[in-house]
Amino acid sequence: MMIEANLQEISASIPSSVTLVAVSKTKAQELLEEAYNAGQRHFGENRVQELEWKFEALPKDIKWHMIGHLQSKKVKKIAPFVHLIHGVDSFKLLKTINKEAEKCDRIIDCLIQFHIAEESTKFGFSIEEAEEMINSPEFFSLKNVRIIGVMGMATFTENTTLIREEFTHLHEIFNQLKRNQFRHASYFKEISMGMSGDYQIAIEEGSTMVRVGSAIFGARN
Ligand SMILES: *Cc1c(COP(=O)(O)O)cnc(C)c1O
Repeated sequence: MMIEANLQEISASIPSSVTLVAVSKTKAQELLEEAYNAGQRHFGENRVQELEWKFEALPKDIKWHMIGHLQSKKVKKIAPFVHLIHGVDSFKLLKTINKEAEKCDRIIDCLIQFHIAEESTKFGFSIEEAEEMINSPEFFSLKNVRIIGVMGMATFTENTTLIREEFTHLHEIFNQLKRNQFRHASYFKEISMGMSGDYQIAIEEGSTMVRVGSAIFGARN
């Protein structure tokens, strides 16, 4: 019952245009079912193996988001069903997703992950690296992936000013790509930013997709 109440509270506090991705990593099937029965359809996981078994075990109208770092060799396991891959952090990974999507006769939606935080441990492109990729002829030839926006994670800190600056930065990166490389791409419209601790700030800074775990399901071990 807590999960349903949490979902209702969070949904009520975010605009209806913002997609709420319930981050269910490490959580048991029954807890996902509780969220599903409360009407939740977008779920996020960060491990391929866990994503695979949960896809098998849960209702088929769930939209599964891969939100974590994804290794190229594991893409084929999720290519048949994944709804959106948030963490595209290398050209190699994007090319692999394209290849596996082609085998499944799908076009897989992806977000380019940008490194906006201060920690060096977080994955992602710089704007220069991303533009170099997007402007390359090889990128243009990828017909089975569609870049629908950007994703980023803020620094893990209590400093809300810094968090806000990092989200503003990601929004600026989005605007720059939208003005240039994706000018004619109406599908390029998503900014995935914001987690349990910072999703309100993220929405104020233009997030269209928040990835919320512990505020829905409780703390992870
Ligand atoms: C775990 C995770 C989240 C959710 O984190 P919470 O703080 O539990 O809301 C969001 N995004 C990514 C990439 C994650 O790995």
